[in-house]
Amino acid sequence: MMMLDVRNLSASYGKVRALFDCSLAIAQNEFIVLLGANGAGKTTLLRALSGTIRSSGEIAYMGSDLQKIAPERRLQNGVAQIPQGRGTFTEFTVDENLTLGATIVSDTRQVRQDKERWYDRFPRLRERRSQLAGNLSGGEQQMLALARALMSRPKLLLCDEPSLGLAPVITREIFAIFKELRDNDGLTLLVVEQNADLSLKFADRAYVIEAGHIVAGGSASTIRADELIQKSYLGD
Ligand code: ATP
Repeated sequence: MMMLDVRNLSASYGKVRALFDCSLAIAQNEFIVLLGANGAGKTTLLRALSGTIRSSGEIAYMGSDLQKIAPERRLQNGVAQIPQGRGTFTEFTVDENLTLGATIVSDTRQVRQDKERWYDRFPRLRERRSQLAGNLSGGEQQMLALARALMSRPKLLLCDEPSLGLAPVITREIFAIFKELRDNDGLTLLVVEQNADLSLKFADRAYVIEAGHIVAGGSASTIRADELIQKSYLGD
């Protein structure tokens, strides 16, 4: 059984339709990238899953109907989203951001342990734990956004364009961390990206979205090798 099974997902902004009957499925512990050009509907699809916009269609998630679960309860059910622009609290310190990421965790000992775990994984965040998040570099802020999301102990992590504004070498580092989280921590990831070339080196599978339609899907290596897909949708 798939962890997430999305059928005929549609969404609109007023009269403008942004998603047309999108179907996709993600197995537990898969690392999926959602590729597509500017305005293709990638962000809208993530928002529909996290519930930040209304959508129609089926979203089966670990045996539940996600459409019936209120957006603010989806985090409690293990669905965490890192929005475009990272969504860290710039006026709070790194450590406070991690605390805020764990608001749904009531066991304070667990929060302390999780913090240590992610500080071990992101030593630069430990070094800067008392600094304001707004003073971090773009790459450090993306790592903070990731660590903050991890503090909620997600099962499925949705991440919107982590590479935005980052140098290629930093983007590579972020994708290597995603893969590591998939390999070592049992996380399932759906990451929206425009950088197809790089993200396909790390992901297991990919979907391609164009003008609100899912137009292709397959293993990362298949998508990478498909010249027609590359030419038609990935701007290669
Ligand atoms: P990007 O890489 O630029 O974020 P995207 O693939 O994430 O692009 P979406 O942001 O999902 O694309 O946009 C899909 C379509 O919906 C676009 O045509 C866009 O203009 C439209 N759209 C997005 N947000 C809104 C909004 N708040 N109001 C009206 N239309 C919107």
